[in-house]
Amino acid sequence: MSLLTRFARQWIAGETLDDAVARARKENRDGIGVVINFLGEHVKDEAEADKNIEENLRILRAIEEAKINAALSIKLTQLGLEINKNLCLSNVEKIAGSAAGKNVFVWIDMENSPYTQDTVDVYLDVLKKYSNVGIAIQANLRRSESDVKSIAASLGVIRLVKGAYRENEEIAYTSRSDITKNFSRLMAYLFYKSPSFAVATHDDLLINEAIEANKAHKKRLEFQMLMGVREELKRGLVKEGLTVVDYIPYGRNWFPYTTRRLRERKRNILLMLRSVFDV
Ligand SMILES: Cc1cc2nc3c(=O)[nH]c(=O)nc-3n(C[C@H](O)[C@H](O)[C@H](O)COP(=O)(O)OP(=O)(O)OC[C@H]3O[C@@H](n4cnc5c(N)ncnc54)[C@H](O)[C@@H]3O)c2cc1C
Repeated sequence: MSLLTRFARQWIAGETLDDAVARARKENRDGIGVVINFLGEHVKDEAEADKNIEENLRILRAIEEAKINAALSIKLTQLGLEINKNLCLSNVEKIAGSAAGKNVFVWIDMENSPYTQDTVDVYLDVLKKYSNVGIAIQANLRRSESDVKSIAASLGVIRLVKGAYRENEEIAYTSRSDITKNFSRLMAYLFYKSPSFAVATHDDLLINEAIEANKAHKKRLEFQMLMGVREELKRGLVKEGLTVVDYIPYGRNWFPYTTRRLRERKRNILLMLRSVFDV
């Protein structure tokens, strides 16, 4: 295993579904729910998209068989969004339908801005048939206020995130403080309008804001965080009686995911360099 692979392992359960299920069991024992994600994105041919559908269906069977407290998270470019939007819609419906039969919730991750509109469109279409599906919305995008409003009006379920992709100033807030302010604004709207949503951040300020707001609003609220990030905080929130969910990725395509995690925090890059060069 290369040093980089070893470094990436803090954020990834392993290469196989068994690794993800083992990690899920461990989190469940500590009172933490999980979201399992099969890594991979930007699929260009149908046969590969079909293989990815199969793997996601396998995750759903594993969740049922292992009786774990788990949801599924998918990326639309892994399921053919770049080949054809209708093909992708029908692929997502296959997964959502199977998940509904097993009482499993499916989250749609949000990718970078060239895919935002199609992702929202596919989501709103899937939602017409299946209510067990939610979507990530990124606080860094200026358009997100209007997306949150239309999704909430359609009774969709939102996972609010800051946004993991670098975007252009014209369409996005780019400073940390502006993104946090917009997260806060969108979250306030969700507290006002939405019965159930996920606050997916490791930011103490936003987490505390959500905890305070929920004392008055009493929504079905879950705090979602990434595997390998702020493990003590997760356990602390569980002790306070809050719902905490860990996002657990697995698979061989770990490189883009790891790059996004590295970029999020300068300290991670230093730690990686230190582990590679032993400085
Ligand atoms: C469950 C979940 C699902 C997500 N889904 C999506 C999605 O679909 N689309 C999308 O664009 N983004 C997604 N993201 C990523 C998100 O957009 C952010 O890039 C990421 O969460 C970092 O932002 P933050 O809110 O934690 O705040 P930040 O301001 O980046 O971090 C706040 C604090 O958290 C800690 N921290 C944050 N990241 C790390 C890290 N990598 N390593 C160590 N400590 C860290 C640090 O203490 C930091 O000071 C998801 C995040 C989560 C938790």
